[in-house]
Amino acid sequence: MQANDPKLKSFIATTPESHFPIQNLPYGIFSTGADPTLRAGIAIGDSVLDLAILADADLLPVPSEIFRSGSLNQFVALGHATWRATRDAVSQLLRDDNPVLRDNRALRANALLPQDHVTLHLPIDIAGYTDFYSSKEHATNVGSMFRDPENALLPNWLHIPIGYNGRASSVVVSGTDLHRPKGQLKLPDADAPIFASSRKLDFELETGFFVGQPNALGEPIDIDVAEQHIFGMVLLNDWSARDLQQWEYVPLGPFNSKSFGTSISPWVVTMEALEPFRVASPAQQPAPLPYLQQHTDNGYDIALEVTLTAAEDKSGLPQTICKTNFKAMYWTMAQQLAHHTVSGCNTKVGDLMGSGTISGSTPDAFGSLLELTKNGQKPLTLADGVQRGFIQDGDEIAMTGWCQGDGYRVGFGSVSGKILPSR
Ligand code: CA
Repeated sequence: MQANDPKLKSFIATTPESHFPIQNLPYGIFSTGADPTLRAGIAIGDSVLDLAILADADLLPVPSEIFRSGSLNQFVALGHATWRATRDAVSQLLRDDNPVLRDNRALRANALLPQDHVTLHLPIDIAGYTDFYSSKEHATNVGSMFRDPENALLPNWLHIPIGYNGRASSVVVSGTDLHRPKGQLKLPDADAPIFASSRKLDFELETGFFVGQPNALGEPIDIDVAEQHIFGMVLLNDWSARDLQQWEYVPLGPFNSKSFGTSISPWVVTMEALEPFRVASPAQQPAPLPYLQQHTDNGYDIALEVTLTAAEDKSGLPQTICKTNFKAMYWTMAQQLAHHTVSGCNTKVGDLMGSGTISGSTPDAFGSLLELTKNGQKPLTLADGVQRGFIQDGDEIAMTGWCQGDGYRVGFGSVSGKILPSR
């Protein structure tokens, strides 16, 4: 695909470390102080390209009101051909050898805004939120701690992409602070639960994907076309209160322990932009049932990192506490979507599906504090001797991720959030 050509250069200069070179072109929703209208933009270098302004100038194959509708949903609903045509048109307009935007000083002044002058909003009105549990390393680590190291994986895990229906209402965009949740928890030696603030507040490093092409009720999505139903991906922090979770999760899964907030990154990286970074996912043994068998490589090579900025650390510098990669995920997005709909469950444009915590095989690659600190038993030592078993009030968690190309990156930016005291 021409828009993915590693040799493409934009007249908007980017460094090799930039997450938003011309090969990426992720979509988001932004506003400015001067114009509070929520509108669609594309990140390019340190700038945001206002798609509505380009559409007003008849430079895009989509009417500008679609880009001023407050979310990406109407645009996404136009389908694959429109996603591709729009990305190709923007790629052409940003090329260093195309004078249309490059040499139009007035248009550039209107259409290109510095990223640090805009406010980013939730990119999509989220129809539903489902969270999976698809990292074998994570499921093994959690099963070892909460149940039995000898039988860490429950018998169904190697056969089903395990998931549950989460809350779309509390999905928030990066930068939204959240209050520590209160709820029921049962202390280890107590006979009865108490009502209290969570003492074991955690993050979960995940990615999420948005459904772009829906399926009708009763019509499952075949695994071979499942990826065509996906518009793009974001980074996702599935905040989790472990003490609430451990008391409530049997028999129907997490409830209040995860419903108080889920943070996503503001820029949706399209599946087209991720295509060059497609890789094989881990071999699956035993072979899954036929409806889950893949005939293409459905993994993606996405480097991921998590930082923690401790409330009392006066330097204010984020400390890296996890480095891992999405490519280790056992169950793929295509398998998750095929499994989700095999019952006949329909999906909608804007449905968000979380990957599940992404943990690698080494201790520095675990995607939650639960695993990094062995359920708080072995606290992390950060700069200045600060210790952390779980998240304290005032701590900030940030996640970043990118695909490494030859001399460029297709990145996700970041998702961050600070924990405030309980209300
Ligand atoms: Ca999760």
